[in-house]
Amino acid sequence: MGDSLDRSVPRERIEDLERPALDDRSYRIVTLPNKLEVLLIHDPNTDKSSAALDVNVGSFSDAEDMPGIAHAVEHLLFMGTKKYPEENNYNKYLTSHSGHSNAYTASTSTNYYFELASKHSTPTSSTSPSPNATQENLSITKEQSPLWGALDRFGQFFICPLFLEDTVDREIRAVDSENKKNLQADTWRLHQLNKNLSNPAHPYNHFSTGNWTTLHDEPLARGVQIREEFMKFHEQHYSANRMKLVVLGLENLDTLEEWVEEIFSEIPNKNLPRKRWDDVALYTEKELLIQTFARPVFESRTLEISFLYRDEEEMYESHPSRYLSHLIGHEGPGSILSYIKAKGWANGLGAGGSSLCPGSGLFNINVKLTEDGLKHYQEIVKIIFQYIALVREREPQKWIVDEQIGMSKVEFRFRQKSPPSRTTSGLAAIMQKPYERKQLLSAPAVIKTFDAELISQAMSYLRPDNFRFMLVSQEFPGDWDKKEKWYGTEYKTEKIPEDFLQEVKAAFEAKERPSELLLPHKNEFIPNRLEVEKKEIEQPLKAPKLIRNDDSVRLWWKKDDQYWVPKANVSIHFRTPMAHLTPRTAVMATLYRELVNDALVEYSYDADISGLVYEFSNHSTGLSVSVQGYNDKLHVLLEKVLVQIRDLDVHEDRFKIIHDRISRSFRNWDFGQPFHQVGTYSRWFRTDSSCMIEDLAKELEGVTAQDVQQFFPQVLAQCHIEILCHGNLYKEEALKITDLVEKTIKPRTLPPNQWPVKRCLILPSGSNFIYERQLRDPANINHCIEYTLYLGNRMDPVLRAKQLLIGQMTDEPVFNQLRTIEQLGYVVFSGPTAGITYAGYRILIQSEKDCRYLEGRIEHFLTSFEKTIDEMNEDDFEKHKGAVISKRQEKLKNLGQEGNRFWNHIFSDAYDFLQAETDVENIAPLTKDQMKEFFMHYISPSSPRRAKLSVHLIAQKQAKEPTLDEKKTKLSTVLTTICKAEEVVSNNDALKPRIDAISSEADISSAISTHLKDDLQLSTEQVDKIADEAMAALGLANAGLPGEVVPADETMTCTGMQGGHAKEPVLITDVHAWKAGLQMSAGVRPVRNLEEFMEDTAKL
Ligand SMILES: [Zn+2]
Repeated sequence: MGDSLDRSVPRERIEDLERPALDDRSYRIVTLPNKLEVLLIHDPNTDKSSAALDVNVGSFSDAEDMPGIAHAVEHLLFMGTKKYPEENNYNKYLTSHSGHSNAYTASTSTNYYFELASKHSTPTSSTSPSPNATQENLSITKEQSPLWGALDRFGQFFICPLFLEDTVDREIRAVDSENKKNLQADTWRLHQLNKNLSNPAHPYNHFSTGNWTTLHDEPLARGVQIREEFMKFHEQHYSANRMKLVVLGLENLDTLEEWVEEIFSEIPNKNLPRKRWDDVALYTEKELLIQTFARPVFESRTLEISFLYRDEEEMYESHPSRYLSHLIGHEGPGSILSYIKAKGWANGLGAGGSSLCPGSGLFNINVKLTEDGLKHYQEIVKIIFQYIALVREREPQKWIVDEQIGMSKVEFRFRQKSPPSRTTSGLAAIMQKPYERKQLLSAPAVIKTFDAELISQAMSYLRPDNFRFMLVSQEFPGDWDKKEKWYGTEYKTEKIPEDFLQEVKAAFEAKERPSELLLPHKNEFIPNRLEVEKKEIEQPLKAPKLIRNDDSVRLWWKKDDQYWVPKANVSIHFRTPMAHLTPRTAVMATLYRELVNDALVEYSYDADISGLVYEFSNHSTGLSVSVQGYNDKLHVLLEKVLVQIRDLDVHEDRFKIIHDRISRSFRNWDFGQPFHQVGTYSRWFRTDSSCMIEDLAKELEGVTAQDVQQFFPQVLAQCHIEILCHGNLYKEEALKITDLVEKTIKPRTLPPNQWPVKRCLILPSGSNFIYERQLRDPANINHCIEYTLYLGNRMDPVLRAKQLLIGQMTDEPVFNQLRTIEQLGYVVFSGPTAGITYAGYRILIQSEKDCRYLEGRIEHFLTSFEKTIDEMNEDDFEKHKGAVISKRQEKLKNLGQEGNRFWNHIFSDAYDFLQAETDVENIAPLTKDQMKEFFMHYISPSSPRRAKLSVHLIAQKQAKEPTLDEKKTKLSTVLTTICKAEEVVSNNDALKPRIDAISSEADISSAISTHLKDDLQLSTEQVDKIADEAMAALGLANAGLPGEVVPADETMTCTGMQGGHAKEPVLITDVHAWKAGLQMSAGVRPVRNLEEFMEDTAKL
């Protein structure tokens, strides 16, 4: 132990935190001399370590004239530190240890976190089993632990950040691009509108993301030194006493404490106060009693009622607002939702209180309206007030709170682990709250006491003189006369008309109200039987057992042998081609699914709030039902769901509502984020049968309630049933559940030769296709490309190993080149992509630059990567292997994750339960030469044999083209960034006159080259590379694509396609003809004989 733990200096150590029953972590809270409060977590079984630091400053502290500054500082903090000046040093370190990092800026806090492998992983050492019970007694040295290096890099951000000059503009651009990504998203738009309509004196009113104008142009115009301003913000608001640090590792608490002390004691403490906003109201009289009508991008209809409420942070023993949200948000019989749903006015309802900051809070009620509901919104407001009056006229009901207390305790007691970075990031934020330290884990979740007084106070806020509402719809009222400043949302706002307000008051005060409105009845789903029979297990089973396999049913079962929670998962697949024969049957199956779910809302609500949920879904190979949660009453819910599935009575009125809801979701689909849409297109090209939304939308129009009523019994009439029972269930229970399924549905058997075969289309070797499509949202400015290379059949384990490894090897370089250096856009993804039998590699970019330009930059990157592989040393190569292996070996954190993994392998038809192990075995022996060969064959643009398809989604609106002056300004920062990445010393003094001399766009290229050649004396090869990257970052590089792409000759046969078109891209125009020309892969088959999974009969 180091001297720093000298016990002669008394330090308070809080270790006895209230914790879940099965939590095997140990906790310690200490405060360092600089007043940094730290929570240390030792987890003897973790394979990932993590740390998070939360600073009690956020966008509420933005300067009035520089909205977004807190967010920009969050971005810039990572740009180099005194100790580790290289700007991507931190991420490189994390990536080489299978790690990642992230950060977010909230209203009153900024949260930074990372996660990485707990141990150094080398392919040789990692194949031996890792759990090691004696680990906690050994102290781990800094060199042995990847965590130490990460903590040291992380800590420097708060000790001596450099805010590197040349990264400032670039990070402001990243913020700008992040904001542009959100511009067309309704959640952001409506949230901001609500903010803008609050008291201008409250910081909630402001715009928090920031953009190029607020963070760059305007400050510059005012003569502000931007970087200085960021540093000043940091200087003013960041202080050790405002920070909370959480570190989770394999190391014991003393070691962690010593490390944390050594690194984080250096953070300066400025003794800054915790900010509060007590004396400024969120809504003043001016902002209350207003009605706002807003027009969404999506075709959605919602009514949101907001009450000015209070901040309940200090009331965590009783959580009073949960009494109100429980009753108002209830969905069972007697509830508001049940009543307005029966009238055909609503599809959903939610309610809840939120503390916005110390000193302010809101209570919101949100209703999803039907078309009819929109017409009756005023009546809905009145009904809500009638229900509130019903709640308020009674004393706070102790039995209701007792139910909540009981359930919250059960949930906490059996809470399972979540991933390390979620744990640390979440707890660091929670530590900012005034919770008693021993209750840090439990306080946010558990209701401890019934406090009638506090509940009565809470109820007093829900009054007709203390609210306002917003109605969101594309149809009504149509005369929006204003535009919100930051997102451009059209809206109209005015005082609630006096006559309507009087009606609301009358409804609230009347003793008469609809007899349908009632308090909920006792919840029968609260679990009582919570026993788990725990046994000593040497090695948990890695696969479920096959305990029944006949013509009708295949049943898989595994009794939980490692998580010991009183929970279970039951998943059922009704296998039949009927649900997806044509777009029409697919649409009918979708309507059926939604109608069943709709019919179960009231019944399943009690189960839902008691930790028991079900899901019913349709897909290309049939229908599925799953039930998950406490096993005590699981069969009760399952039976009800099955009966509903069998006996659904399609009512005309509900059908109309559901039909409208689906039809809107289809219409909304192509207004979504382009990078969300693009995957659907890529998948469309991978299989024969998948259909696009537009095909489904066409079919939907003609389908009637009667059609669905006649259709669904046909789906269930003949099918094969496959079931997984997993968790706290004995074999007899699994068999019983299976009987229940069979007896309830009673399908005829479907012969195995009729089971749908899962397979994909094969992209031929030597092909190069482009599919172009214009995006429908006219206001969207972001293009999106998904560039995919087909690698082969995913069932081939060696190929899959190479696919995973190449994904890891290119991960950081893609991001660094295309996002950081070339600044193509905020959304840049790369890595393996998989279909059923499809193994691919893809790069996805969402950008204001056009798709052909992006295509060129991707090819340019891939070409340059050949050299990167050549130059990669063996050590780095082994690190990459280690990183993928450790990802594949990552432990499952809870019962749900294990159940999902089993079900995925069953549902895929491959039953490859040991896939992770197989992958590790196949990655370990891979050599650099093999990877180079793989890359040169399947990925390199120079390969005549690779198979490529890219989808280009083209925005209608053009982003504003930067002026020559803007490009010139950008050029100097761009060059500094690239020179640094290329390890070349830049020379801004020599560069400046060259930039000044540029008088037209045509001069830029030669100015760069001359500067690199004459001023920096670089070799021709370096000059070419840097010049090209600089031109790319300015959006001026040669796209490398012909202006006109040749349309595909759809009559071309497969062999025709193989004929060496690899160089010139071919445009897909007729998708059907194109698909018809492709061959199919072999279908998925079990990787092992299923008999191997049968239980050893001798043991029975
Ligand atoms: Zn950000």
